[in-house]
Amino acid sequence: MSKLLKLENLTFLAIIAGIFFGYFFKSAALELKVVGDIYLALLKMLIIPLVFASIFVAIVGLESSDDLKSIGLKAFIYYLSTTSLAVALGLVMVNMFDPGSQMSLDMPSAAAIEAKEVGISDFLLSFIPSNIFKALANGQILPIIFFAIFFAVGTMYIAKEKKSTLYNFFDAINDSMMVLAKWVISLTPIGVFFLIAFTIAKNGIDPLIELYSYVLTVLAALFLHAFVTLGAILYFFGKVDPFSYFARVKEALMVAFSTASSSATLPVSIETATQKGGVDKKVSGFVLPLGATINMDGTALYESIAVMFIANISGVELTLSQQITIFVTATFASIGAAGIPGAGLIMMTMILESVGLPIEYIALIIAVDRFLDMFRTSINVWGDMIGAKVVNQLVFGKKSK
Ligand code: ASP
Repeated sequence: MSKLLKLENLTFLAIIAGIFFGYFFKSAALELKVVGDIYLALLKMLIIPLVFASIFVAIVGLESSDDLKSIGLKAFIYYLSTTSLAVALGLVMVNMFDPGSQMSLDMPSAAAIEAKEVGISDFLLSFIPSNIFKALANGQILPIIFFAIFFAVGTMYIAKEKKSTLYNFFDAINDSMMVLAKWVISLTPIGVFFLIAFTIAKNGIDPLIELYSYVLTVLAALFLHAFVTLGAILYFFGKVDPFSYFARVKEALMVAFSTASSSATLPVSIETATQKGGVDKKVSGFVLPLGATINMDGTALYESIAVMFIANISGVELTLSQQITIFVTATFASIGAAGIPGAGLIMMTMILESVGLPIEYIALIIAVDRFLDMFRTSINVWGDMIGAKVVNQLVFGKKSK
């Protein structure tokens, strides 16, 4: 295949073409929404079996439960530290640039926003599926992951031949899901073209201009986090040049950008990390599904900036202790946010309430949310891909490429 026709180049061209098409042929782009939706549905179709089988196979394929502890602990430390760094950077940037302080915007009316009440006990309970089949049917990823991990760990303790039976069964499911994923991935340029065209046609670009100081602060912070903070972590702990790794896994980032959904991107992330990123499937199969669900650096960073921006616009001066509250709640909100479009915005109600800001103020930033969602989801997925590489390097070291 000639270089230009490589899938990732075609996908990139499709994104650019989609932007123009959506801008100049608005009604056609709106009419043709279904094509993008079909692509999205095909990706989503694979998520549940893939998450379940890949986690099961990754864990049962380990030599001992000590390996699982080692991978799990490293992944956990990575998730928490990078997410906190992201929120901290967001807070520093927003204090530096102070977007919104000179701005007066009219409150858009009729914003149907409900507060998301998440107490700590509800938060913990939401991890445990009281009925796994219900969780599977409803696509509740976190409870499914919880069960898959438990199921896999339990399987490590049963008789060897029975363990192999289950392992082979789920390994076969995993492999065939990956074949389907490859087929769906080959449709990516078409899918992203229509997804982007629709997004541009629906949202336009005017709100971006009106809220430019806020948009630019978010983008600059996301960029710094992606290439400076995460780049350095990848370089020092993953022992790989961030730019070459970026070039290898960019297909997943472009899908994240176009779908604004970490979960929908999961089949692509797993395929790219293992096939091109040199990550062992025992690591990618565990770290990526978990990461797509709880590790959202882009979302965490975005939320801290958005809340501070809302405070600025409404003329509320937030104290240091309120900013610390934002730091903690934004971290948890990003863990609790689902990997779907707009989830970060919904979780933001929790942060606004924690510092006593009215949730209706979210209406001020809704107009640019989808646009920023595309960028923050790409950073969420980039963070997951780096996590997989770093954990892979720390656990398997020289054995991996
Ligand atoms: N759309 C994001 C994701 O799927 C979540 C968010 O809204 O921030 O990763």
